[in-house]
Amino acid sequence: GFAALGLLTGMGGGLGISLCIGWLRSLRRRLRRALHNGDLTLVYQPIVRLADRHLVGVEALLRWKDESGKPVNPEVFIAIAEQAGFINEVTRFVVRRTLAELALQAKARPGFRITINISVQDLTNPGFLPFVAAQLKQRGLPADSLGFEVTERSTAEHEPLARGIQKLRDAGHSVYLDDFGTEYSSLSYLADLSIDAIKLDRVFTMHLDEDSNSASIAPQIVAMAKGLGLGLVVEGIEEERQAAYFLKLDPTAYGQGWLFGTPVPADRLFER
Ligand code: C2E
Ligand code: MG
Ligand code: MG
Ligand code: MG
Repeated sequence: GFAALGLLTGMGGGLGISLCIGWLRSLRRRLRRALHNGDLTLVYQPIVRLADRHLVGVEALLRWKDESGKPVNPEVFIAIAEQAGFINEVTRFVVRRTLAELALQAKARPGFRITINISVQDLTNPGFLPFVAAQLKQRGLPADSLGFEVTERSTAEHEPLARGIQKLRDAGHSVYLDDFGTEYSSLSYLADLSIDAIKLDRVFTMHLDEDSNSASIAPQIVAMAKGLGLGLVVEGIEEERQAAYFLKLDPTAYGQGWLFGTPVPADRLFER
């Protein structure tokens, strides 16, 4: 997402830049309209305990099709909403819609947890936690049925992130550090973030058999997470041998990926 934006803005020359700015503006305008009209949709992907494949919860993932019916990459439109300052509205839409679609199913399954991706701007928004509490109350769900995934994108975000995470935990929510091991997520900061688990980025699952850096780093990250008493959710599991590999590294690990289920609309989640 960011890479694509960077590539476009880096396209040297005035033409490239103005094309890019025009494209972004138009995308931003259409996204605002879609949000306003409730035209964004949600899909949900299973999260399972690797040891017995028990469904422990789902991650909510936002989808947007523009007027032509073409899906826009969520990493692109989320970045746009963050930069344009309306990610708070997007996140509230996600919370509201997700609870509307899944509250009954969640109530019927004790321990079932829904996780939602949030931005650092949600954490610094003073109205966010009261909003979440009111939504949960309206649906009759406890705070621990809703977890949040956060990504550390820069060291500058570390302080607000750490404080925001603590508040979520104090309110009874679980917090997961998303895409762990990529970009700016840093080992030295991990110890003072009050999180429940890390979500190991898909790159580590993808390159398991290659003689690559990520293949040698994955076991170290798993060991470190365990050493810190953190849980582990492995992203992007597409094949049995990947599940087996991580189960062996950590018998208590959780997993997510196409092997267990692709993201689907709420009405298809429990039919399999
Ligand atoms: P993420 O939170 O790391 O979500 C996991 C991404 O991996 C999802 O991409 C999911 O569809 C994809 N995935 C899951 N299993 C597999 C697999 O086995 N193989 C492969 N190749 N991919 C798999 P998606 O839905 O395109 O979302 C991309 C990112 O956009 C998310 O990454 C998250 O950072 C962001 N995003 C999505 N929905 C929301 C939202 O509601 N709010 C916010 N703030 N960000 C969101
Ligand atoms: Mg996530
Ligand atoms: Mg992730
Ligand atoms: Mg991601």
